[in-house]
Amino acid sequence: MDIIHLLPDSVANQIAAGEVVQRPASVIKELLENSIDAGATQIQVFLRESGKELIQVIDNGKGMSPTDARMAFERHATSKITQAADLFTLHTMGFRGEALASIVAVAEVDMRTRRPDDEAGVLLRMAGSRLLAQESVMCAAGTNIEVRNLFYNVPARRNFLKSNQTELSNVITELQHVALANPQVGFTLSHNDVQLLQLTPGSYKQRISQLFNKNLGQQLIPVGVDNDLMQIEGFVCQPEGARKKGALQYFFVNDRYMRHPYFHKAVMECYQELIPDGSQPNYFIYLRVDPASIDVNVHPTKTEIKFQNETARWHILTATIREALGKFNAVPSIDFDQADAPEIEPYDPTKAPPSEPKVNYNGDYNPFRKTSLMSNWKSLYADFSSERQAEMPSQESFASGETLSSRLSSRLDDTDAPSANESGTLTSRLSTVFDDVPNYQDEANVPVDPMAAMPNVEHRNTFRKYLQVGGAYIAASTKKGLLLIDQHQAHVTVLFDRYFQQIQQRQGVSQQELFPEIVEVAPADEPILENILPQLRYLGFELDNLGGGSFAVNGKPASLDKGINLQDLLLEMIESARDGMGNIGKDIDRKLALRLSRTQAIPAGKILSEEEMTQLVDALYDLPEHTYTPDGRLIAYQLTNEEIAARF
Ligand code: ADP
Ligand code: MG
Repeated sequence: MDIIHLLPDSVANQIAAGEVVQRPASVIKELLENSIDAGATQIQVFLRESGKELIQVIDNGKGMSPTDARMAFERHATSKITQAADLFTLHTMGFRGEALASIVAVAEVDMRTRRPDDEAGVLLRMAGSRLLAQESVMCAAGTNIEVRNLFYNVPARRNFLKSNQTELSNVITELQHVALANPQVGFTLSHNDVQLLQLTPGSYKQRISQLFNKNLGQQLIPVGVDNDLMQIEGFVCQPEGARKKGALQYFFVNDRYMRHPYFHKAVMECYQELIPDGSQPNYFIYLRVDPASIDVNVHPTKTEIKFQNETARWHILTATIREALGKFNAVPSIDFDQADAPEIEPYDPTKAPPSEPKVNYNGDYNPFRKTSLMSNWKSLYADFSSERQAEMPSQESFASGETLSSRLSSRLDDTDAPSANESGTLTSRLSTVFDDVPNYQDEANVPVDPMAAMPNVEHRNTFRKYLQVGGAYIAASTKKGLLLIDQHQAHVTVLFDRYFQQIQQRQGVSQQELFPEIVEVAPADEPILENILPQLRYLGFELDNLGGGSFAVNGKPASLDKGINLQDLLLEMIESARDGMGNIGKDIDRKLALRLSRTQAIPAGKILSEEEMTQLVDALYDLPEHTYTPDGRLIAYQLTNEEIAARF
């Protein structure tokens, strides 16, 4: 018996739908693109439950005849191309004729449509690729399509959907792409009867400002060129506008959003040297090219697009952006910001002239008199060791602030060493030698190896001294060798412990702000931020949603640095939450706590006082885990005595 047969259309469509329709956001993308292709100037979007329950798109485009309306839901049915060659002159977003067929295969769809010149419109009611009803109706010109219960007949897919916040955020992201590409079209978006967006027709710049931070518009520098190969229009940001996370980076080609890692690199190259490492500029770049020179036919859900002559275009792009940035820099900003300016009193001839500053220096200091210095120290050790026998440096003497090194340096003061004012070099040199103190390792007072499983408190003050190395590591001599602690990672771990506990125990204090700062987030980020407000509260942030993507910061963690950029920090927190989304709540808690800790932790390069080092190391070794950070980075490394000996 033969066993091969053709699949029924409904099954074939459902399989094909997997390619096009993965989530509510993919439905929105297809419906919006159809409305744009139909020449709509006003598009309204209504969602329920992030689109899982309802996605409705109403446009005022050219509508369809009753027959076309029926045809539109067939697979490979399109009005946009008739032959393969048309792909090279494509001026529409759609061309596959697959979207509506795919959507109707996995959802319940009602579509009302009417061409402006027709008296009556048509209503089609469909579900799972089957036509349930078709009737003539009175309706507005244009197309009104309702997609309900997405994946109602594919439970596995429905279960696969992410949380409402994630799906809503994805939907808004798709809408943003279409809205940014078509500023001449008005858009509204409502979710569960709450209007989230209202975009009026305008210029590219107005659209960008409507969608994102209103202040963003001021930071934009226009770019433009009209060249045989391509036309470029759009904006890049001033170098100061670059962000560590959540930078707004958009490329469009022929009014279609695209991702283009190669052109992205071109932009980044223009900003080299202008912005700090790891930060990213905002850009909105609109390319217009001959449709024959690009291949949009990659994959229905992919946004990468292939170009001919990419290298030549790379050069045009970088030249255009460099020119724009250059122009911007060439015009000095006449911005008399006097906040940090020193105060200069007006000249008053009656007053005595200010005294000249004096320079003090030690005329006897000879940096080359090293040998004598060393021998001096040698004798000092001997001296010191014998003194130690008599009065052992007890824990108390350390605690009372009198450290061995301070004693040592006071003894050195009367040698011909550099004067005590130059304590920076003195102390560091001293410390180098300090570790060589002979006989120190007698059993009574051995420095405890912090890596060993010792009760945590006991290590305190038993390191003789902490020494900062390279501005980034804290070194301590231990019984086993030399312990190197990464100051940044150590501090991250200490802070993380505190912040994570605050979230877990649902308590945290914030410092109230007299004049709340307003931060602005993109519409796609708003539901995410809304979702993590409780955690942020335990971390000390009191945020108030003012609507329209604006949040008032009424309180922030008391420990937060004064100069910190709240907007950037919150964007980073949103980014962390996005990463952790879809996982269990605790994961987001960890990510948020970690993000705040990383921002707050002392950086490499910060010079620490001895007291600061002591506090940090004490706090670190009070934690049960002090070898790796919560995200798995090494905090401390023990260079063993054997390893050291092997070097000599
Ligand atoms: P494609 O967009 O690739 O042609 P679709 O399945 O998305 O395929 O749509 C099929 C056809 O239905 C389109 O070619 C177009 O003629 C028609 N159509 C779809 N949506 C609309 C709309 N909102 N207004 C007018 N016509 C539409
Ligand atoms: Mg389409």
